[in-house]
Amino acid sequence: MRAMDVGRLSTLVRDVPGFPVPEVTFKDITPLLADPAALRLAVEMIAAPFEDSGVTMVAGIEARGFVLAPAVALVLGSGFVPLRKPGKLPYSSRKEEYQLEYGLDALEIHVDGVAPHDRVLLVDDVIATGGTARAGVTLIRGLDAELVGMAVLIELTFLGGREALDGVDLHSILTYDS
Ligand code: AMP
Repeated sequence: MRAMDVGRLSTLVRDVPGFPVPEVTFKDITPLLADPAALRLAVEMIAAPFEDSGVTMVAGIEARGFVLAPAVALVLGSGFVPLRKPGKLPYSSRKEEYQLEYGLDALEIHVDGVAPHDRVLLVDDVIATGGTARAGVTLIRGLDAELVGMAVLIELTFLGGREALDGVDLHSILTYDS
């Protein structure tokens, strides 16, 4: 039996209205990360659907994907690869730009971050419109690795990220429809 359930996980996600811009309510997961049982449950639940998928690499998206992805990699017995904001990776990298509400952002991966024999799970804390995730998908597939799926702690279903990922096997632990 679980020491705690998913319902309690959701009580440990703090809504911060107006951060970082007035029209956004930020899903702050730091209370969940601070709770040992919640942190363990969240990591185990993210990994669970992919335990028999032969995952060799977990790709985490900067910044909060970095908090969860290495822990998921430990559970799955795989490696970890960072997908970083532009200009942060030291070695030769590939870049994928994506649209924000105002302007462009981008993610980068080392050219040897994943290889064609890799089976990759993409991990982030939150999927909203799906633009960030789609850039991650493009980077992984662009290096000819196999994308097994994507896992997030939180899916903001009203922003349509799942549809933007057309066809990627997306698993979320907590969903919010407003
Ligand atoms: P999107 O590209 O719109 O799917 O946005 C997803 C990225 O932005 C993820 O890396 C999240 O960490 C972050 N993000 C977007 N919306 C929120 C939110 N309401 N609360 C926390 N993080 C968010």
